[in-house]
Amino acid sequence: MGHLFDDFGRYGQLTALIDGITGRKLTYTELQSAIVRVGSALWRLGMRKGDVVTLFSENKPEFLIIYLSFAAIGAVISCVSPTYKPGELAYALTHAKAKMLVASTATIEVAKQAAIDAKLNQQDVIVLGEAAGFRPYSALLQDDGKCFPENLDWDPREDLVALPFSSGTTGLPKGVMLSHYNLVANVEQTRTQDVMNYAAGEDVLIGVLPWFHIYGQTCIALAGLKSGVSLVSMPQFSPELFVKIVKDYKVTKLHIAPPTMLFLAQHPLVNGDHFSSVQFIVTGSAPCPANTTMEVRNRLDIPQIRQGYGLTESSPVTHVNPSKNYRYDTVGLAIPNTEFKVVELTTGESLERGSEGEVCVRGPQVMKGYLGNEKATRETIKDGWLLTGDLGFADDDGHLIITDRIKELIKYKGMQVAPAELESLLVTHPAVADSAVIGAPDERAGELPRAYVVLKPNLHVSEDELQKFIAERVAPHKQLQGGIEFRKEIPKSAAGKVLRRILKDELLANKT
Ligand code: ATP
Repeated sequence: MGHLFDDFGRYGQLTALIDGITGRKLTYTELQSAIVRVGSALWRLGMRKGDVVTLFSENKPEFLIIYLSFAAIGAVISCVSPTYKPGELAYALTHAKAKMLVASTATIEVAKQAAIDAKLNQQDVIVLGEAAGFRPYSALLQDDGKCFPENLDWDPREDLVALPFSSGTTGLPKGVMLSHYNLVANVEQTRTQDVMNYAAGEDVLIGVLPWFHIYGQTCIALAGLKSGVSLVSMPQFSPELFVKIVKDYKVTKLHIAPPTMLFLAQHPLVNGDHFSSVQFIVTGSAPCPANTTMEVRNRLDIPQIRQGYGLTESSPVTHVNPSKNYRYDTVGLAIPNTEFKVVELTTGESLERGSEGEVCVRGPQVMKGYLGNEKATRETIKDGWLLTGDLGFADDDGHLIITDRIKELIKYKGMQVAPAELESLLVTHPAVADSAVIGAPDERAGELPRAYVVLKPNLHVSEDELQKFIAERVAPHKQLQGGIEFRKEIPKSAAGKVLRRILKDELLANKT
């Protein structure tokens, strides 16, 4: 089994990384040489196989160089969101028992405080840039490479390479143990012909999804580089920069999450000319309403907009719509070497196609388990099957349809209401740009569906009109009896998931 970086030599003078801000380019030969030098420097600093480093940075070329350098010497990389506050970062450092922390100039202030709480000293903190008192990345790059460990004795199935945290949208974040085997398997599964079909020297990708999150990390950064593509970094989302990079560098395949789909559907800056190089879009990480997909397709004239699906615990991809016979309303077929089944929620019995239940997946990309939490691991992986916590069903063609997250189902008088169904219905109203639905506690019913709605610029609809719009389209138990609140935006995670928990916490706090 190969490693993440062992094809780089073949790609030689092809461009590997481009800094989307400065335009600076790095070839695969330069990338490979940087990995050897930085890897050697990290080895001299005492990092060894199995040691954990926490990577706390926005997207930039150095993020991936240092990621791959740590991976090449057998260290375990635990990426966390660059928006973390000191307390969250200190928790991640302590929980993972991190020996080192990598920050950027943008995150160093938070890193400084968290490092003190996690008892790391300043020289254990590497900064991708300059910051007084911390170890500069540029010094590692000066190394002569002589200490790079060429022949590490590692067991791909046992040794970890990544330790991402589940995003914690439904509870406290858990450390997800991914072995080399898991991650390389998913890189191979996603870069293949009928999934991404990446071509060396031809494809250009943009790192618009954050690389700390497993979706951007595996599908764009690691699968892209293993295939010899050029990858343009984007540190944070800006409409102007996004459109400029796609147009100037002629991005060929676009991986995004639903908030960027909304942006493509609605923003005045976006037009078909800027996106004429894009062959297809893959959207994942959260449900993307069919009408948003149709709006993007019509506006940009991009025929293929394919949904994919996965979770941190499966490195992450398990399903993607195929390039032929793809369907807007499904997350697609299981990718190569992946099986899935749908089971009854209480008995765990396998269900027929068409019946709704919990989606379970099996394949080489399924994690080893949760760090330090055997109980949660046992509850989540049974006989090799990963219980995804998602509700869904398979159709006659084997396509998977995700209906909602089991933990976020609303319980109205013993009946279940899927928030995602109401959210997709709300955005079919011409004045609605975005929405989120949660269960509002109610003494008699248990929970009542309650909506948060963002209107499109210069359009208006009253609560009564919107209530009527929904009431005409759904059964009585699904109506928005918990009310509708208009908002400027819906809280979302960096990977584009609706953070329903935040809305629920706010609601509960206001009630007490
Ligand atoms: P936590 O479990 O702590 O809440 P998380 O599940 O949000 O974290 P991720 O692993 O990033 O963390 O998210 C995986 C989840 O995202 C899936 O279980 C599923 O609910 C959702 N998801 C991913 N892709 C899609 C999609 N195309 N359609 C619907 N839901 C999706």
